[in-house]
Amino acid sequence: MARRYRIRTYGCQMNLHDSEKVANLLHHAGYREAAEEAEADLLLINTCSIRDKAEQKLYGDLGALRGWKAGAERILGVGGCVAQQQGDALLRRFPHLDFVFGTHNLRLVPAMLEAARAGRRQARIRESRSPARFDLPAPHADFAGSTPGRAWLTVMEGCDMFCSFCIVPRTRGREISRPAGAVLDEARGLAARGVREVTLLGQTVNAYGRHAWRRARAGGEMPFAELLRALAKIPGLARLRYTSPHPLFFDEGLIRAHAELPALCPHVHLPLQSGSDRVLRAMRRRYTAREFLALVRRLRAARPDLALTTDLIVGFPGETRADFQATLAVVREAGFTDGYSFKFSPRPGTAAAAAGFGEPVAPQEAQARLAELQELLRSLTLAAHRSRVGQDTEVLVEGASARAGAPGRSRQLRGRDPYHRVVNFAAPHPPPAPGDLLPLRIAEATPHSLIGVLPEPAGLRIVPGAPEDWRGALTPAQRAITLPPQPAGAARAGSGAPQ
Ligand code: SF4
Repeated sequence: MARRYRIRTYGCQMNLHDSEKVANLLHHAGYREAAEEAEADLLLINTCSIRDKAEQKLYGDLGALRGWKAGAERILGVGGCVAQQQGDALLRRFPHLDFVFGTHNLRLVPAMLEAARAGRRQARIRESRSPARFDLPAPHADFAGSTPGRAWLTVMEGCDMFCSFCIVPRTRGREISRPAGAVLDEARGLAARGVREVTLLGQTVNAYGRHAWRRARAGGEMPFAELLRALAKIPGLARLRYTSPHPLFFDEGLIRAHAELPALCPHVHLPLQSGSDRVLRAMRRRYTAREFLALVRRLRAARPDLALTTDLIVGFPGETRADFQATLAVVREAGFTDGYSFKFSPRPGTAAAAAGFGEPVAPQEAQARLAELQELLRSLTLAAHRSRVGQDTEVLVEGASARAGAPGRSRQLRGRDPYHRVVNFAAPHPPPAPGDLLPLRIAEATPHSLIGVLPEPAGLRIVPGAPEDWRGALTPAQRAITLPPQPAGAARAGSGAPQ
């Protein structure tokens, strides 16, 4: 019987994708995924160190896993950003930990696993400057990835920006881009497997290829826009996304791509971090609030329906109430659809964590600012959602809705629209499969998601002998769609009658 693994993943999409890559390597090594950790022979934790809380969580997890390891021939490994930073220190602190692998060392996991079985504990965290580290085996036949129809594709990794608060250049290393040929080959392979939506990943994804480009050419478009144009020509790839870009690396070519490429989704996650020029300078973000807003206007001129989301930090050392008000003003003016907001968390080794960097903001004050900012973001999200009611859209079906467990909602599915919003909808019959593209009309807005109905009433079919909860699974808007009179004795199955 095949050995079983589980992976716990914390952090960003890059980490989630790294976990997929490791899972695929494990499938090639003969492992299969266990339904739960209690059944697993191998447990990997893919860690995040962007904030202190995430790092402390790992230490708590590892302490609690002593019991999981005790008395069984099990292997425990740790990877990701904390692993990259701590290396051997983790092995010393947690004697029941078998191996530690860095962010550039994913391909070593099967070999480290075998070594661990032979009783050899080790940490491998060497940084690699070779693009060969991206070249991993094609997906195993028994490994589907996380969401059918959707895939991540790493195009670059690492960061040379060294924002003063950010640990990423120390955990992911210096910026390195994959050769375009390798990216395009992988994208063609994904399309051949039925993937409809590809999200390009990189810490500063739109800086893709910039070092090679500077050496080779002068002037013209940056290579990221060219890469998008080449990807958009691949048959079968209906949607392209990218995350996360840096505002500094938007050039005319990339902005024009948003106007010209139908496959490029009308959503950009554009990290602002602060709306105060003073704080932006201290953060080493290399743009001003005015420049950021000018970029927003250029993007919206190219693609008027563009949805923008962002990242924000409050309570950065030295941030005054006036600085914070400036952030609120830019957030309002940019009209973000959503945002991730956090209190500043000093990370050891970064400039902003050094003593004397700036006056610390009192924890209660930082908390109050975060609450105020989040309130604003919630109101913007709801306004953006309400503006969508009545619009037609298309979702990539992801599976059961998070609401599906609620009474009367057992048939709720969820999908994601081109603006990256979650749309919940009552499953038609036959239900679409995860990975299908499905047209919907937005019928309702909620604070966290949208509710869709099939746009043509004729497309909303009644399930023969449907359980009583079928109508309960519908939203008020869906229930408001009235049924045309049914001819006596007419079969309801597949009649195309609206529900
Ligand atoms: S650009 Fe992004 S990943 Fe790079 S240092 Fe700044 S915040 Fe971190």
